[in-house]
Order: sequence, then structure tokens, then C-alpha cells
Amino acid sequence: MKKFTLACFAYTVLLLIGCNTPESQNTAASTNKISSPTYEPGSFGIVIHGGAGTILKKNMSDSLETAYREKLTEAISRGHEILAAGGSSMDAVTATINIMEDSPLFNAGKGAVFTHDQTNELDASVMDGASLNAGAISGVTRIKNPIDLARAVMDKSEHVMLSGVGAEQFAEEQGFALVDPSYFYTKRRFESLQRIKERETTELDHDDKTAFVDPFIKESKFGTVGCVALDKSGNLAAGTSTGGMTNKRYNRIGDAPIIGAGTYANNASCAVSSTGWGEYFIRAMVAHDIAVLMEYKGMSIQEAAQEVIQKKVPALGGDGGIVAIDRGGNIAMEFNTAGMYRAHMNKEGSLTVKIYK
Ligand code: ASP
Repeated sequence: MKKFTLACFAYTVLLLIGCNTPESQNTAASTNKISSPTYEPGSFGIVIHGGAGTILKKNMSDSLETAYREKLTEAISRGHEILAAGGSSMDAVTATINIMEDSPLFNAGKGAVFTHDQTNELDASVMDGASLNAGAISGVTRIKNPIDLARAVMDKSEHVMLSGVGAEQFAEEQGFALVDPSYFYTKRRFESLQRIKERETTELDHDDKTAFVDPFIKESKFGTVGCVALDKSGNLAAGTSTGGMTNKRYNRIGDAPIIGAGTYANNASCAVSSTGWGEYFIRAMVAHDIAVLMEYKGMSIQEAAQEVIQKKVPALGGDGGIVAIDRGGNIAMEFNTAGMYRAHMNKEGSLTVKIYK
């Protein structure tokens, strides 16, 4: 019996020694933790986007650029305040997105684009990196702040995703005040739809590339808003809210409310929010792919984001971008379009706001 115990002990020692060879370290790294971002207690950070697309300096007036910069700053500062005061990353994400949803500058909430039938159909989702709980809604027409309803689906229902009339019924039961659909009307988005219709094309008709020649049309295509945050407790959260694509038909749903495509958060890797050509982002499972490249392959957040946004998405023919943050407070703001409205604030409160490449 003693001999057996000794043999077991020797075997265990050999196994342990074996684990220290470089080769086995690589295996460990590729299966998980070794290069997973180090969590620094008390650290926090927040990153936002207001859509990616053909956003070129030459097409932008100074006053419009200032308006974007100011709104991005206002939104991210709100989230940062919440995090600095010890609030949760989920609270920071939704409060930040609310500010962008209430602004006509972005394709979400008040500034949502029009469908072919001249209505506005909104999609949104949130995910909590600690519990992997998530909530999403699609095709709602009377919810002022879709991100709040997505959160209510996560917190107050046993479901992950609700759509259309049913989602609005759930909203009413939860005490949401429904707005008249005319709330979402903006002249800019309405004219954008008319211009596209005049061209007798749809932005979903990918055989007709003329839809992508006009920068204004392209710009109005990707204006989704998103936010990712790390709170002082080390928890990650992500959220995304959109009006989808101008001239969409047939109750088309994009990537924004799809967990894993438009939104993903996992404390083991990172939190991601996407913006771009939704069909491709769904097919590439963009947000989840970035997270698992970190978790399974040990990539850094920057490497993982580049792999998906600069290689996988364009290889399929799509374009767009993401923002992401990990538990170490490392961030990525990656896009393969001309520009992406984006901003970052770290623990120290230093602010970066950018629009172009
Ligand atoms: N990703 C969104 C969609 O396809 C569009 C956007 O990012 O603006 O619905």
C-alpha cells in the first residue's frame, strides 16, 4: 500500500514537472488563463461607439463634427461618473447608451433610420459578463429607449429575446411608457430614405453597389450606438442599440440584438459591441469570436479584434467596427471603414474622442 502511495506521489511530481515545459505552457495558454488579462482591483474603464462607415472629414461640416464630439463626450462622461462612484458596468452601459439614443445624431432611438415602409423598427441588446445573462429586443416601434427594454428582458423575464408587438406588451407590463411612433421621425433620416428609394435600390440589394457610392447613404447605414464597460468590481458589460439599416424590409433584423454578433460580454475574456453591415456581423459572429479568440487562444484584445475586423469580416465582404474592453482595462476600437465615432475614458478620467481613421 505504501509502495502504491509512493508511486502515485512520484507520478504526480512528474506530471507537475511536465506542466512546466514550454510546450505545455503553450497548451495551457491556448486553452485558457495564462495570458488572460490581469484584473487590477479597483480599475475601471468605458468605451463607446456611435457607428462606423464612410465618415470622411471632407463630408463633415465643422459644426456637425463638434456636435458629434460633444455628444460622445457627454455620453461617455455619464458612464464614467457611474463607474467612478462604484456603480455597475451594466448601469454605466445603459445610461451612456440612453444619451446617444436620445440624440438625433445617431441611428438609435430618436435618430433611428427608416424602413422601406417609412416606419422605424428598433433593435437592442445587453449582456452581463459576470453571469452571462443577456437580454435583447427587436423590431419595436414605440420604445423610446430600446436598451432599457433589452435590460428589462434580461432582469425581469425568463427569456433572452423578445420581438415586435410581444416585446411592447412586455414593456407595458413592466411600466414602460410607450411613445407614439412619430417620436422617431427626423427630417435627415426621412430624406435619406427618399434618396435611396429614388435610386430604386435598397441597401440590402448587395448586387447593386451604387448604394454604397454615396457617402451620405453609407453614413446613414452604420450609425448604431454601443458601449462596453469594466466596473470597480471587475465586471464587464456590453450593450448595443440601433435603428438597423435604412430601407430595410420584411422585419429585417440585424446583428445589434443578436447575442454573440452585435453584443457579447464575459468576465473570462472581454465585452464587445459591434456596428456595421449586420448580415456579415451575424455570419461572422463578430463579438463572440473576439471573446473566444482571447479565451481559447490567449490573444490580446487588440489581436483578437484585428483578426475578426481586419480579416474575417472583410474576407466575407462585410465592413464595420467594434469597441471592446477586458478586465485589465485594455481596449480595442477597431474598424475597417473610413471612420467610426468612438470614445474612451480610463480610470484616471483621461478622455479620447475620435471620428476618422
Ligand atoms: N449593425 C447595424 C445593423 O446591421 C447597423 C449599424 O451598425 O448601424 O442593423
